[in-house]
Amino acid sequence: MTELRDLTPHTVISHEQSRRGRRQRRQLRTFLPEMVTLERTLAEAPVAVTSSVVDRVALGDLKLPIYRVDIGTGKPEAPAVLLVGGVHGLERIGTQVVMAWLGALLKRLAWDEQLTALLEKVHLTVLPILNPGGMYLNQRSNPGGVDLMRNAPITAQDRSAFLLGGQRLSRRLPWYTGDPGQGMEVENRALEAVIRELLPGRPFSVALDCHSGFGWQDQIWFPYAYRRRPMRRIAAVMALKLIWEQTYPNHDYRFEPQSRHYLTHGDLWDYFYKQINRDNAGVFLPLTLEMGSWRWIRKRPRQLFRLDGLFNPLVPHRHKRVLRTHLTWIDFLLNAAASHRNWLPDAEQESMLREAAISHWYRDTI
Ligand SMILES: [Zn+2]
Repeated sequence: MTELRDLTPHTVISHEQSRRGRRQRRQLRTFLPEMVTLERTLAEAPVAVTSSVVDRVALGDLKLPIYRVDIGTGKPEAPAVLLVGGVHGLERIGTQVVMAWLGALLKRLAWDEQLTALLEKVHLTVLPILNPGGMYLNQRSNPGGVDLMRNAPITAQDRSAFLLGGQRLSRRLPWYTGDPGQGMEVENRALEAVIRELLPGRPFSVALDCHSGFGWQDQIWFPYAYRRRPMRRIAAVMALKLIWEQTYPNHDYRFEPQSRHYLTHGDLWDYFYKQINRDNAGVFLPLTLEMGSWRWIRKRPRQLFRLDGLFNPLVPHRHKRVLRTHLTWIDFLLNAAASHRNWLPDAEQESMLREAAISHWYRDTI
């Protein structure tokens, strides 16, 4: 890992002054403006913020960095929040939501004593653009044509959705899982390295991976995607849902196991959930925010004719609204992680909440 502070803020380009460097910079501004914004934000970030490059993705003569940002306590026994954006390159709004929240957090660090106190109790790690090559190319998959959300070594137990559930036929078709014999792609290995270093040993951790493109409503999905039966930590998801809905009754997220929509092969978060929860006593909840982009299309059907319009709000006022809508939810996750002792169920509450979760989500499957 390279410490960002040792380098110029524009780490993508090694020959910043050269003609090639200037050309690459121009390309980046055109095709990956999110990266330019992120590098500017990090260059101006307060000293409490650490940035590093976890790995780089080759694309032509570019080597696009996967940035990692860390803030908060260094205590290994503290709870942690992991925020991820840009797994699917076409869903730029996911990255933009993560960066809008991160930008606000960094500004608040200059004046907000309560936030400083909160960050003494919780650790935050952010990977705003996991798939920079895919985002540069404005495509869902990584530059090798692999759908990163179908690329983990885990197979659906029941019939997965045709193609959409992950396919091995061709990298030219969507939802390509990659070649299982080759291991995970560089982007996923980078994420795995962060997770293995960050999460083990913590009493509670939560991940939020921000996507768009499915449904009419904003949804919070949790494992599993590979089978229909509930996961072991389902009581903790129910508890989190309850405190969220009691605290913010005017927000409107729909919490559901991904398996209610479709089963997939190779789901990244199923894989990490199983790895971390199997080997550790603490609870790790990986959540996915699926922003319901069909609403944006319904209000503006012309958007259907632009591929990025299927996944991103194109009208400026709607774009701003999406960026501010999720700030409360991400703040909530940081606060809930820091105060997990006050809501995470104990053994007695666990069985009650598990029953509630099963009758709420799994009535048809058990
Ligand atoms: Zn997605």
